[in-house]
Amino acid sequence: MEINFCSYCGAPMEEKIPVDDDHMRSVCTQCPHVHYENPKVVVGCIPVFEDKILMCKRNIEPRKGKWTLPAGYLENKESVQDGAARETLEETRAHVRILELYRLFNIVFVDQIYMMFRARMEDEIFGPTSESSEVRLFKEADIPWDEIAFEVIRQTLVDFFKDRKKGAYAFKVRDIKPDQTRIQ
Ligand SMILES: [Zn+2]
Repeated sequence: MEINFCSYCGAPMEEKIPVDDDHMRSVCTQCPHVHYENPKVVVGCIPVFEDKILMCKRNIEPRKGKWTLPAGYLENKESVQDGAARETLEETRAHVRILELYRLFNIVFVDQIYMMFRARMEDEIFGPTSESSEVRLFKEADIPWDEIAFEVIRQTLVDFFKDRKKGAYAFKVRDIKPDQTRIQ
């Protein structure tokens, strides 16, 4: 994203490659400020209750009306585990205990990193929120595979149910490519 004015001194910014750098940056024309843009981190989890997992129906665009796992942008001064638990509470009203990191997705073409944890629901309390029109526990057989909002969520769930049958959850890093993001 192009930045028009310097956030320190208010002078106009220009696009150029700074000395000893190899990327185009927005650089202040008056002071030494360089505006760096870095990937965003999305944190989420697979909330498990008994043999079921908790999913939410998106009440916001994009992919409004499709099903997803709770996930959202990490905040400054927040650990990734705390962020995943907070997003889960905000989107489903469920309190979870975050277990281990399960999947990390590089989505380089949109400058995002997804970190999906396994999590255990503390109790069976959950419900709709402003972000989720419906929140439901699903058994594997009832997962709405044709109505999943994002490829990262679909892959996380496919892997999770495979690993659950094996009884072992191995951490993996995966890459999502642009041709995998078409709307289902
Ligand atoms: Zn400046």
